Amino acid sequence: MMNVPLAPLLVKPVDAHNARLVSYVHPPDWQNPTPALCYNLVVIGAGTAGLVTAAGAAGLGAKVALVEKHLLGGDCLNVGCVPSKAIIRSGRAVFDAKEAGPFGVRLGSPVQVDFPAVMERMRKLRADLSPHDSAERFAKLGVDVFLGEARFAGPDTVEVAGQTLRFKRAVIATGARAVDPPVPGLTEAGYLTNETVFNLTQCPARLAVIGGGPIGCELTQAFQRLGSQVSLLHKNAHLLDREDMEAAALVQKAFIREGIALRLDATITRVERNRSEKIIWYESQGKGASVVVDEILIGTGRAPNVEGLNLETVGVQYDRSKGILVNDCLQTTNPGIYGVGDVCLDWKFTHAADFSARLVIQNALFLGRKKASALTMPWCTYTDPEIAHVGLYERDARERGMEVDTYVREFKEVDRAVLDGEEDGFVKFHVRKGHDEILGATIVARHAGEMISEISVAMAARLGLGRLASVIHPYPTQAEAIRQCGDAYNRTRLTPTVRKWMGRWLAWQRS
Ligand SMILES: Cc1cc2nc3c(=O)[nH]c(=O)nc-3n(C[C@H](O)[C@H](O)[C@H](O)COP(=O)(O)OP(=O)(O)OC[C@H]3O[C@@H](n4cnc5c(N)ncnc54)[C@H](O)[C@@H]3O)c2cc1C
Repeated sequence: MMNVPLAPLLVKPVDAHNARLVSYVHPPDWQNPTPALCYNLVVIGAGTAGLVTAAGAAGLGAKVALVEKHLLGGDCLNVGCVPSKAIIRSGRAVFDAKEAGPFGVRLGSPVQVDFPAVMERMRKLRADLSPHDSAERFAKLGVDVFLGEARFAGPDTVEVAGQTLRFKRAVIATGARAVDPPVPGLTEAGYLTNETVFNLTQCPARLAVIGGGPIGCELTQAFQRLGSQVSLLHKNAHLLDREDMEAAALVQKAFIREGIALRLDATITRVERNRSEKIIWYESQGKGASVVVDEILIGTGRAPNVEGLNLETVGVQYDRSKGILVNDCLQTTNPGIYGVGDVCLDWKFTHAADFSARLVIQNALFLGRKKASALTMPWCTYTDPEIAHVGLYERDARERGMEVDTYVREFKEVDRAVLDGEEDGFVKFHVRKGHDEILGATIVARHAGEMISEISVAMAARLGLGRLASVIHPYPTQAEAIRQCGDAYNRTRLTPTVRKWMGRWLAWQRS
């Protein structure tokens, strides 16, 4: 088959930063290689899951082909973690400047946000990070990089850009995309998703965010801080409703304090366009209402990319909302084909994509039986304060018939948090009742994502909460709250009997 030339790919706005990004992750002059006779592994999709699979397998000596139809780096680099965290950082700078007064800092005139500069900083940093995911780097790692859309053509072949790749094992790493909510009038009115919102160069004066999950909440707070008046519409009564309720309530409180208009329990009935304005009609608690905005951003969940792969040809079963069906070893219903990352996991995180890829390399190429259920998976929502979590929530533990003891340390009791003016938050542990085995933990703090790894280490190493009390933490740090939960657990070990014996021992020493 012939090698079909690439169509040029633009990332908007077309500027030097985006041109640099594209030159790394979808080089306009890229020539797909001549396929090898047979690959150990053909990887479809070059987001984090595909990149880690391909690099790891090639590093171990496998002959690997990696196929990407759009931008190497996938969502994380191009339209997810990287651009969102860059603008969240700018939003934090705005917030800190506005809230500097109580720290004794007077900043003269009102804080001005230069939105085009915020977005340019993001584009520059994204381009700066992109060489790591570049086609050239992967080619140098020994991976055959093919740009084009892949589809299965037969039981052991994938077609891309007019070429056929023969494989012993294949990995589907095609990721997920924003769910389009079926709201009458929404398509006609036009809306942004994570794929387009980072192209903005002007800040929408009034922005509606639909969806109060992690992505919706992170971008809501960022845009509010960067100058939009944001209305956040969420179908349920609380934001971030999969999180610990008390944790989510603290974020909700922060949102209200920052002037975000929360419209909860909101079922959107239709959207209308009136010249440049968009009117969202919704019902909440039996009453109809509307909100008028300039832009709408959708954050209502992720749909796995399962279409167009010709999965039926290779007997790979899938569900349009859950994605590719995999077993605990991430094997699909075709034993020679594996799934990895957002296309098949409930955990839709970059680090989950990364670690599921490491597991798949062992299982697909080296007869491994590594199980996804054995991974200790933390996650973090990068609102301010952040919510970081690892392991089970209390409700999960109870559903599994486990009784739990809960230990909480609020940051208003932690010196460093008081000094930082960051008292709104806590560290919460759930342990197996009567033991110190950590089942799960949640942290709400400005840098909760930086703090949760200590607990992940403890869980992965099977260190109990009591052992964390003996880990010396520098004073004053917010992480002392973790040690203090350990102290609280150890105090429960001081039973009346132990106390009685200790009293006798001390009395004997005095005698
Ligand atoms: C706004 C936002 C913020 C986020 N923030 C975070 C965060 O802070 N931390 C975190 O851990 N996670 C975050 N995530 C989630 C994270 O981006 C994803 O979990 C991660 O990118 C998943 O990686 P993946 O490789 O499975 O899929 P993707 O990154 O989606 O990559 C899949 C790739 O496959 C390609 N592809 C699809 N079909 C084909 C085909 N037929 N042929 C060839 N190529 C194909 C796609 O073009 C894409 O490049 C965020 C997501 C969003 C949207």
